Parts: sequence; structure tokens; C-alpha cells
Amino acid sequence: MTVWHFVDDDAGYLDWLKQHPFGFVVNLRRSFDPDYVVLHCASCVSIQRYPKMKSEPGGFTERGYTKLCGESLGSLEQELERFTTRPEPFSKRCSLCMPKSE
Ligand SMILES: [Zn+2]
Repeated sequence: MTVWHFVDDDAGYLDWLKQHPFGFVVNLRRSFDPDYVVLHCASCVSIQRYPKMKSEPGGFTERGYTKLCGESLGSLEQELERFTTRPEPFSKRCSLCMPKSE
């Protein structure tokens, strides 16, 4: 299954969210940090709106963070095996959207 990694491409990322409303998004630091691997549902507001009205576009994938996106959790877990050996690759599941494995 396909996994998309958006780096320096907020427009592409936001477009992906529109096309995959039931997908999953992993928020990563630009330089991979196993302690910051946060799983969200694609529908979560916290990963599709800039936190402050004045914040400049680019905050999702063009500065400190990148987004790994997939249609299924399994495909994301598989992809994350390339980065981390932890059995639970996600350091956190968002408490707002509470992504579940099914
Ligand atoms: Zn969320």
C-alpha cells in the first residue's frame, strides 16, 4: 500500500487530506525523532488548520515537521519500521481524534 511522505509541500499535503478523509497522518520531526511520532486521523483539525490565524503557511511540512500519510495504519507501521525498531512506532496517538487500528 502506498505511503506518502510530505516534505516541503504543504499544498500537496493539504490536497492529500482532502482526497483521503479516512486516512491516517503521522506527524514527524524533520530530523526523525522516535520520541515524536504522533498519529492522527486525516480528519483531525489539529493537522489541517494552522494553529494561529496569523501563522504563515508552511508550518505543516516546510519547517520543523514533516507528515507521513497513508490510507491504513498498517501501511504506516510498515513504513516506520525503516526509521525505528520500536514495536509500537507511534510515540503518541492524538487525544483529540483518537485514531484506532480498525
Ligand atoms: Zn488528531
